[in-house]
Amino acid sequence: MKKPINFPYLMLFNTLTNQRERFLVQDRSVALYVCGITPYDYAHLGHGRCYVTFDLLYRFLGFLGYTVTYCRNFTDIDDKLLRRAEKEYNDPQEYGRVAQRFIESYHEDMDALGCLKPDFEPRVTLFIPQIINFVNDLIKSGKAYVTPLGDVYYSIESFPGYGKLSKRTPDELKAGARISIRGDKQNPADFALWKSVDSLPGWESPWGLGRPGWHIECSAMAKDYLGETLDIHAGGMDLIFPHHENEIAQSEGLHNKPFARYWLHNAFVRLNQEKMSKSLGNFFTLRDVFERYNPMVIRYYYLIHHYRNPLDFTDEDLQSAAKSYQRLCVFFECIVPASVDELRTTESPLILSLLAALCDDLNGAKFFGILFDHLKDQGLNEASLVKSLLITILGLTMQPVAKQEVIITPEIEQLLVERETARKARDWKKADEIRDSLRALGVALCDKKCD
Ligand SMILES: [Zn+2]
Repeated sequence: MKKPINFPYLMLFNTLTNQRERFLVQDRSVALYVCGITPYDYAHLGHGRCYVTFDLLYRFLGFLGYTVTYCRNFTDIDDKLLRRAEKEYNDPQEYGRVAQRFIESYHEDMDALGCLKPDFEPRVTLFIPQIINFVNDLIKSGKAYVTPLGDVYYSIESFPGYGKLSKRTPDELKAGARISIRGDKQNPADFALWKSVDSLPGWESPWGLGRPGWHIECSAMAKDYLGETLDIHAGGMDLIFPHHENEIAQSEGLHNKPFARYWLHNAFVRLNQEKMSKSLGNFFTLRDVFERYNPMVIRYYYLIHHYRNPLDFTDEDLQSAAKSYQRLCVFFECIVPASVDELRTTESPLILSLLAALCDDLNGAKFFGILFDHLKDQGLNEASLVKSLLITILGLTMQPVAKQEVIITPEIEQLLVERETARKARDWKKADEIRDSLRALGVALCDKKCD
């Protein structure tokens, strides 16, 4: 692969070091793990933001020439799933039906948003033996202990680095910890690796019938699919503590090597200044929003905001995003996208500055700022490169979401007449120039039939 000149390095904000860092891996292969959903309900706008953000990362790394192995899990056993199964089927044991249904709807939503499929999508319930092994190894290495009731806890005092991701001190950790109902934790901030249960659903283990704690699944699955050290571990900011902190304690406690080199976290979607979440009840499901807006508009709406800034959701913003996305689609409607190889090797300053914006910690806001600033002054060649970039890396289909009615102003009419005259005189250069002026006015001309 020929590297474009002046091509900047990919810089990513690493939560672990609390700074932007150049992304470096030893060979050209990247192990990427993104925490997935608990499939007990439809995915909402907050979920969409997370998975579109890391889909952009996945696509961009691929474009930059990395071979990425992408793993994203499903927490398909959880109290919330059991409650839903009890409510819908009068039987918590039917939790698998609930999970299956919402995994399917999640896949539909992700497809609609243009998110590429990860290489692996493991489910906890198919991973119990590996989880039990992991917990067993933690007990053997003195990082975890079994209580008389058959619960297994991770001892945070056994892991000196505990708190390094969330930057919490041991005192803060203790103060924030929930007091164990059973009161048999050695330290209030110790967390469960395995929880004993009296009845099904549950799995036999060396400590009796039980279910895995939430955090252990990601350590076990990541190890199985991607090895002991990941290149990138990502998820929503709400996962930094306790989930990702606990994953680090588990994996590093056992393997004595870094669990992930780069930790990336996207900010929340907020409604009235509050995080949009199922538990707060202030959320819109993706499918509700898709009833009113094309899913590509939603993807575009996420991408025009920097992923590390909170996104304050308003209907007006979404409407204006719909308009500007439509404008882009119309502008590029008759442009044939360039090939990815052309995109990789171009020296077009516009393309290089757009790629530089993405290299700047996936700065979508900057990317679209540059694009709109230069919308009218790009020639056909450049436009075909830009369209290719929008499709391949940004993941936008670029198909107009609705046929737009163009109001023919006297200016447009004049240009149309002039262009027809130029065409008849076989003055193709002039005809092309006029076509560019018309495109800048939002009029797409297709001399051949458009797709
Ligand atoms: Zn996780």
